[in-house]
Amino acid sequence: MDDLRLDRWADDDHPHEECGVVGVWGSADAAALTALGLHALQHRGQEAAGIVSLAAGGQFHAHKGRGLVGDNFGDAQVIAGLPGRAALGHNRYATTGETALRNVQPLYADFEFGGFAVAHNGNLTNAHVLKRALVRRGCLFQSTTDSEVFIHLIAISLYTTVTDRLIDALKQVQGAYSLVALHNGALIGARDPMGVRPLVLGRLAQGGFVLASETCALDIIGAEFVRDVEPGEIVLIDDAGLRSVRPFGKTSSRFCIFEYIYFARPDSTVEGTPVYDTRKRIGAELARESAVGADVVVPVPDSGVPAAMGYAAEAGLPFELGIIRNHYVGRTFIEPTDQIRNLGVKLKHSANRATLEGKRVILVDDSIVRGTTSRKIVEMVRQAGATEVHMRISSPPTTHSCFYGIDTPERGKLLAAKHDIEEMARIIGADSLAFISLDGLYRALGRAGRDPASPGYCDACFTGDYAIPLTDQQDNSERPPSLLQAANQ
Ligand code: AMP
Repeated sequence: MDDLRLDRWADDDHPHEECGVVGVWGSADAAALTALGLHALQHRGQEAAGIVSLAAGGQFHAHKGRGLVGDNFGDAQVIAGLPGRAALGHNRYATTGETALRNVQPLYADFEFGGFAVAHNGNLTNAHVLKRALVRRGCLFQSTTDSEVFIHLIAISLYTTVTDRLIDALKQVQGAYSLVALHNGALIGARDPMGVRPLVLGRLAQGGFVLASETCALDIIGAEFVRDVEPGEIVLIDDAGLRSVRPFGKTSSRFCIFEYIYFARPDSTVEGTPVYDTRKRIGAELARESAVGADVVVPVPDSGVPAAMGYAAEAGLPFELGIIRNHYVGRTFIEPTDQIRNLGVKLKHSANRATLEGKRVILVDDSIVRGTTSRKIVEMVRQAGATEVHMRISSPPTTHSCFYGIDTPERGKLLAAKHDIEEMARIIGADSLAFISLDGLYRALGRAGRDPASPGYCDACFTGDYAIPLTDQQDNSERPPSLLQAANQ
């Protein structure tokens, strides 16, 4: 899901958004289970949440609001207003400005075949081009999110069945999508041909199915994990059970490597491996690659914690909570201006002098994006009495923007896009700085290293290897010159 304002079509600095999605089929508590699933996926989006339910007789009900899941769905009356045995929900993450309610998903439309709701995690890379074509042929967009192109492509499709229309739409979009959709006949889950964003399938103990961005959403409702929805797969769930369709033929996975590093919850299992274990292995690999004399390993909480544990164990150093995080402040990135962002970091973290004073400290964080967090934390740790501060990062340098659904600023704002490691160390004020190597990261994921011919993951933010075409970025097409002006010349 990406912001699709027409005036930003040629703008490289549009906001990118992550999101969490949940779909439930076959439970009398469908809306409540969806709300719980969204709550477990709150880390994927904190700006707004929405649920659409399907009641007996094909009637759809919806509730959406800005803010957290608990703020919007904590009230039993709200859930009671979402009746039915099927529901889907969405957490929205946006980084700039206010979120108009019309952009809050699931998106819903009435078609000739009945109601249809869709919730999308990911980012389409040809949405601007598609939107322009759709608007020119008369489609009236209600929102500024790229996800709405799914609705219009389905609406204008000449195919008869909903599934055919959806496949027709998916064949026209490029980019990353894990989506859940709901119509009167079925709950549908779909992943883009490269499976960039996650989507898992679960089974409810009392019967019925769940689709969700991560396994932590299954755990909270006691659903059994069945399997990942595969790249390029569409699953159709109805009262007869589950069917799988592969309209794209055989596809090769380019799952987002940053989900492992930062985005997924550590208690989720991705591709059969707990994210927590992977992060610890990344930390251990980082310790092998960039050992330095120190007294203590300190994570930048929360995202740096498992990697710091792995680092400390491998280096044989004590692991201490030298920085305490205030959990009642949102993620740094949500703050819209640099000034507020700086303030945000101070609001969010404080140094634990007792563990830092007089120590040579290794700080472990998962990534450096703009460098704002690292600079503040290093300063804070020095002020608390650390004698040396060595920064270790459990990802390679983020040198490129993501166009597939992870929030990164435009390339010019990425510290690693402009500076080498020595300069970066100076800018953040660390005695030394090291990032895990790309091969080291792949080793931590169980591979021999990165195979450039077939990496198996999307690592474009570290390599610039954009496996899915960036059609909108390359699109310079203009409207034809004015006929009136031409006639007057
Ligand atoms: P920065 O302060 O700009 O260098 O951002 C780095 C910090 O932001 C790290 O502590 C990361 O844990 C966190 N981070 C990295 N990527 C993202 C993202 N896509 N959304 C929110 N936070 C992020």
